[in-house]
Parts: sequence; C-alpha cells; structure tokens
Amino acid sequence: MRRCTSCFHYSRGHPAYCPRCGRTYSVRLCPRGHINGRSAQYCTDCGSDDLSTPAAPETWLSRVSHWILMGFVIVTVVITLFAFIASVFVSIDWSQVAPRLVAMVLMIGLLQWLMTLLPGPVQKIGKAAAKTGMKFFRNQAGRGRGHR
Ligand SMILES: [Zn+2]
Ligand SMILES: [Zn+2]
Repeated sequence: MRRCTSCFHYSRGHPAYCPRCGRTYSVRLCPRGHINGRSAQYCTDCGSDDLSTPAAPETWLSRVSHWILMGFVIVTVVITLFAFIASVFVSIDWSQVAPRLVAMVLMIGLLQWLMTLLPGPVQKIGKAAAKTGMKFFRNQAGRGRGHR
C-alpha cells in the first residue's frame, strides 16, 4: 500500500503514480519510467525534461497521522478478534469441558513425547497402548458424565 503525501490518498500495491492527483511518490519519473531524484531537472538515463511532479516531501505530521491511522486499524482488528475469541470462550461451559480438555491435551502431549523415545518396531506397541489409553480415558469421561 502506498500513500500520497500530497492528497493523502491510499492506493493498493505499489503504483508509480498517485491515481488521484497524478503525482509520483517521492521520485520524478520520465515518460520512459526512469527513476530520478526529487531535485532532478532532466532524466539521468535519457535526458528527457518531461519529468513527473513528485508529491510533497513527507512531514512528521503526516507521518504521525499515518501511524495513528495504521495503529487504529490494527487495534480495531485485534479488538474484533479478541471479542470473537472471548464470545466463543464465554459460550463454552468450561466447568464441564476444561478438566477433560486439560487431561486430553496432557495425554496427547505425553504420548507424542513417548513416541519420539521409542524405536521403530516398538512404536506399534506404543500406538496400541495409546488406543487403549484413549479408550480408558473415554470410559472415565463417560463414567464422570454418568455421575452428574
Ligand atoms: Zn495524490
Ligand atoms: Zn528517462
């Protein structure tokens, strides 16, 4: 994204000219597209004097306004994201889900860690053990539900 420092228009991508006021961004371009410095009177590549008008140099005020705007956009996105995540969190009944979720994460983590320790042929046994473990865990969870 580029912002014109003359008309403060934001354009997508990296265009050579501002689509609103037709100025170039901090450089002067000749009709062939050679890039010249802001102070150039003639193109250093082809000698053309038909150079574009560059946008005004960026002042600290416009830079600050740019960062404030960007900060505002980022903060808005972050707040929206957090609000969404929070709404999902609130909608879940944590007193029921949390202990099982923690147990499941711990078990999966432990199993994966165990897998890395085991050599190839033993991994099969490990997988079978994992299945049994999951069955046991599911039974436990089922029993827990039955008590309530
Ligand atoms: Zn412009
Ligand atoms: Zn040129």
